[in-house]
Amino acid sequence: MTDFLPTGIELTYLVATGLFIFGLKKLGSPATARQGNVWASVGMLLAVVATLLNQQVLNYQMILVGIAIGAVIGVTAAYKVAMTAMPQMVGLLNGLGGAASALVAIGEFWRLLNAGQGVPLGSTITVILGVLIGGVTLTGSFVAFGKLQGLITGKPVKFPLQQVFNALLLISFLVCSGYLLVTPDNTTIFLAMVGISSVLGIFFVLPIGGGDMPVVISLLNSFSGLAASAAGFVVMNDMLIVAGALVGASGLILTNIMCKAMNRSLPNVLFSAFGSGEVKGGAGDAGGVGDKVVHSIDAEEGAMMLGYARSVVVVPGYGMAVAQAQHTVRELADQLEKLGVEVKYAIHPVAGRMPGHMNVLLAEANVSYDYLYDMDDINPQFDNTDVALVIGANDVVNPAARSNSSSPIYGMPILDVDKAKHAIVIKRSMNAGFAGIENELFYGDKTMMLFGSAKDVVAQLVAEVKQL
Ligand code: NDP
Repeated sequence: MTDFLPTGIELTYLVATGLFIFGLKKLGSPATARQGNVWASVGMLLAVVATLLNQQVLNYQMILVGIAIGAVIGVTAAYKVAMTAMPQMVGLLNGLGGAASALVAIGEFWRLLNAGQGVPLGSTITVILGVLIGGVTLTGSFVAFGKLQGLITGKPVKFPLQQVFNALLLISFLVCSGYLLVTPDNTTIFLAMVGISSVLGIFFVLPIGGGDMPVVISLLNSFSGLAASAAGFVVMNDMLIVAGALVGASGLILTNIMCKAMNRSLPNVLFSAFGSGEVKGGAGDAGGVGDKVVHSIDAEEGAMMLGYARSVVVVPGYGMAVAQAQHTVRELADQLEKLGVEVKYAIHPVAGRMPGHMNVLLAEANVSYDYLYDMDDINPQFDNTDVALVIGANDVVNPAARSNSSSPIYGMPILDVDKAKHAIVIKRSMNAGFAGIENELFYGDKTMMLFGSAKDVVAQLVAEVKQL
């Protein structure tokens, strides 16, 4: 039994790795994402059980207490946290992952020191990596959480020579690392490194605007994977190395996808303090801004346009998420379909505040995936669409991305709502969206503004359509 155990554990790790990869593949499509979650969870269960069978585990009571506390917090959070608060929840979890990896590195360093046989060079290098990545991930994720939760300002926090200061922090960490490699038993230097990496995480994220936090969280998610991988090398655990590498790689891929969908580079997201400018567009309602005229309608007129259309494309955005209007939107679609209207949903990859935000909300409202169209599939269809119904979306339908080379969102692929025969835009005011810029679509001849909070307005539309 004891001879078999190490091989059995390695084999179980191999099976768990396969399940992780299979699960990740399934997560690639909304239709199979739930199955993917289950496969990966089974993999994680196998990995945890195999690790607990490892004879190096000294204290099962402590582990059980940890599991019990973690399970209570996890289940409560999963039930209580609103879908719109998911990005900060992920941020918090990333931070804790980074902390765990840094603690593994610190613990292993202490163990080797106390063993009195010196710290091998390889172990020192992996411990240094664990402390750097783990520390930055921990505090950086906590700042990201604070920004998204509104605990600290969402605006970029800037001060003179900020990037120089950050560079100096990194350089001092590297100098300390060199020192530690030569004198591994120098605990003062080691503790200084833990402090520097934690401070670096804070100052790395502070200058980034709140709106860019989902990208930062995705990047920190990737970091937390790398930190776990580094911790895996520290304690020589294959499972941790592989699982960390998978998280690291998928986090990087997601970061890249988000940057591409916003037509911005990662350095631009990290270092341009996007979102610090004044929001243009100003509050207002029907009437006009400057010499531009806004056409506004009420729910009754909106219902007539929708009810007598042949085809309607619903374009959901961040405002639908904030208002939690997805169930009412589905109700409206059901009513329209009863009248013979063809209803489709257009999904922009960065609509809302996290990737897949709209897919998740619409799935929650039981909208079938068959009705959801990606940007590339729906854009050619807008020419033949009677009414594009924009619900709380702004930047992702802003034609400036196509036509105004000085716009901050120039080049970002958008949903071609302006090409539909008519557009109805539901939002509360003429205020700008995330990018803080005006939207010409709202002043277009074919565009009707329907002011109000998404859930209330869509509920009024449902009531009016029922009367038709
Ligand atoms: P926007 O942020 O551009 O616009 C949302 C609009 O919703 C606002 O103009 C607001 O107008 C309106 N709104 C807010 N609350 C309500 C409400 N209760 N009822 C009705 N309307 C409301 O959203 P989009 O989805 O169009 O674009 C997403 C933006 O976020 C893009 O710029 C994208 O780059 C960015 N982003 C997305 C990420 C992602 O992963 N999805 C990650 C990082 C950034 P008003 O105040 O007048 O109601």
